Amino acid sequence: FRSVLSIKERIESISIKEDGLEALTKLQNELIYAASSIEKEMNNVTNKLQSGKTKVQELEEKVNTLEAELSRTKTENMRDHLTGLLTRRAFSDEIKKIESAYERIKTQYAIIFFDLDHFKRLNDTYGHECGDVVLSTFGKILNKSIRDHDIVGRYGGEEFVAIIHFNLNRELLQFLKRIKTIVTENSFLYKDKKIKVTFSAGVALRSNYDTYDNTLQKADMLLYQAKESGRNKIVLENGMEI
Ligand code: GH3
Ligand code: MG
Ligand code: MG
Repeated sequence: FRSVLSIKERIESISIKEDGLEALTKLQNELIYAASSIEKEMNNVTNKLQSGKTKVQELEEKVNTLEAELSRTKTENMRDHLTGLLTRRAFSDEIKKIESAYERIKTQYAIIFFDLDHFKRLNDTYGHECGDVVLSTFGKILNKSIRDHDIVGRYGGEEFVAIIHFNLNRELLQFLKRIKTIVTENSFLYKDKKIKVTFSAGVALRSNYDTYDNTLQKADMLLYQAKESGRNKIVLENGMEI
């Protein structure tokens, strides 16, 4: 670069008449040399830019792969292994979204606690593996019965919780009746055995409470009531039983 500058100065200082052809020829050579130096330098810069670009692309690809992996493990951790339902933790995360929608547009929803009846006895009678199959089947029944914005999680061992959105109370009752009918009218299959299972449930409507937590507590309390009053029933806040 410095040589380019000095060449410029010398071009300015040349007087063709005095210095003649010889000086011009010498200058010409220097110009050619300088031009090729510049050319080389520019090629270098372009190469660097290009390889810098591929580095950036490489890193971008790596970031994308890692992000995909991260989101896959996240989703895997969100699901309970046995039932494929949301884990309790994932359920709590989802609730935050549902609550913010509730605050914005008052989307009506109910919290329902389900608990399988005498499950310890079922394990004792048919074995733990059979218990697992029943849990998994019950999870599938719930999961298949909910709609897009609804969620269902495995809250504890044989306890499940669902958030069901509805416009009319009738829609909620339909959902509850459907689950009840599926479970009562069918047997659970384990190997060649057909096993009858019942469940109890408590239902609380979000709109009847100040907070999500209070609604949850009420649903849990009603589940307890269902158990206390003989099991195999769904208890609602107005005393209704299904
Ligand atoms: P209740 O009608 O009062 O609910 O009686 P219960 O026997 O269902 O309730 P309890 O809480 O006494 O027992 C729950 C049983 O559920 C005990 C536990 O071994 C079983 N359980 C919890 N998680 C699992 C699981 O992942 N697989 C199996 N097979 N059993 C489980
Ligand atoms: Mg139970
Ligand atoms: Mg229980």
